[in-house]
Amino acid sequence: MTAKSAAVAPADVPVAAKLEALLTLQHLDSQLDEIRRVRGDLPEEVRDLEDEIAGYEVRVKKFDEEIQGLNDFIKSRKQASKDAESLIKKYDEQQQNVRNNREFEAIAKEIELQRLEIQIADKKIKESQYQIDVKNAEISGTKSKLEERRKDLDNKKGELETIVSENEEEERAIMAQREEATKPVEDRLLTAYTRIRGNVRNGLAVVLVRRDACGGCFNTVPPQRQADIISHKKIIVCEHCGRILADVEARAV
Ligand SMILES: [Zn+2]
Repeated sequence: MTAKSAAVAPADVPVAAKLEALLTLQHLDSQLDEIRRVRGDLPEEVRDLEDEIAGYEVRVKKFDEEIQGLNDFIKSRKQASKDAESLIKKYDEQQQNVRNNREFEAIAKEIELQRLEIQIADKKIKESQYQIDVKNAEISGTKSKLEERRKDLDNKKGELETIVSENEEEERAIMAQREEATKPVEDRLLTAYTRIRGNVRNGLAVVLVRRDACGGCFNTVPPQRQADIISHKKIIVCEHCGRILADVEARAV
């Protein structure tokens, strides 16, 4: 560890140079954070749209199947109605040749039953037709939503592709600069830097003192501490938030 640290960061690197390197590192990492933040939302938005579209497609398919089922049912009711009519015709003929009143009445009862069958079938056909109309309206509403979402998806996908391709180059450049910036900083300090970054909400591990306050948590930094920071003799962290205080920002005159 010690040998490696010594090789990476020679002991004679002044604290001021290390602090400067840390500030550069922070600046680069903040840029990377921003790139990832922007890109971070888009893939999720694309996924959400894809899920929504898949949901609409399932809905349309379900309605189509239900309509198919209703059409089959209508077909079967039409056939039942036809069958009843044929029976009525047959009974009518039989009624012409009855031998007595009892037979006549029996056939009349059968005819009445078949007429009832036809009425029921007609009613069911009408009901099914109404349901088909309702479902068709649902389908057309869903399809127009589907079309809108597909357009949204195309736009978002395009946006994402552009950002990814734009950022690829930028990200590579930043990573190269980052590699360079870490050179004067020993491993122990880099580890601390990474740990602080992970602990704070805004990803800022290295900040300046601004208007007598820590640039990370805005708590006051006493004058003596500010003097120590300006002297660049050692790494000083904020006693409230633990961020590295790299320098004191010059006051605007
Ligand atoms: Zn602080």
